Amino acid sequence: MKFVVLQVGSYGVNCTLATDGESAWAVDPGAEAERIVEAARSEGVRVAGILLTHAHFDHIGAIPALKQICGDIPVYVHPADTPMFGHPFNMLPPEYPSVPKPSNILPACDFPFAEAIETPGHTPGGVSWYFKDDGVLLSGDTLFAGSVGRTDFPGGSMTRLVDSLSRLVALPPETKVIPGHGPSTTIGREKSSNPYIVA
Ligand SMILES: [Zn+2]
Ligand SMILES: [Zn+2]
Repeated sequence: MKFVVLQVGSYGVNCTLATDGESAWAVDPGAEAERIVEAARSEGVRVAGILLTHAHFDHIGAIPALKQICGDIPVYVHPADTPMFGHPFNMLPPEYPSVPKPSNILPACDFPFAEAIETPGHTPGGVSWYFKDDGVLLSGDTLFAGSVGRTDFPGGSMTRLVDSLSRLVALPPETKVIPGHGPSTTIGREKSSNPYIVA
């Protein structure tokens, strides 16, 4: 897989296109659907599906527009996060209007090309997408370079987040981490320097 990272929307979400040269999967298409489709096009592929690390508004905003452009492509998300679609607290108009529950939702664990490691804490249905053969982890808002996601939103839990982190640091240290916001890092670097990770 090749991974192309685009920073989208005013929250600077890292929307990652994972492409095998035939199809692309858009991870966390938070905004700027046209730019995401254009980036896939310049890789010579079409967006075949959407993967979500979690369903916060800044990570899902481009889903309706992407579906308009690409057809009724599947959206892989953990079932515990689906109540967030259309939820009155999960929007910030005008840039991020409410996103209704999309059609063609599939459970994250059914995605065939990566493992959805359950990492609740930031949200109840948070997952980190692990592309094992590539040694790449898309950690959403669970693990950032030098930090972790907030747990003071509805459904958040620091206890569960810490538990989730312990599963991520068990991955090989050379694993490249592309977080939901900010710069990339590695599991090894976070293990040795992230103040939230207790070795
Ligand atoms: Zn979030
Ligand atoms: Zn976020």
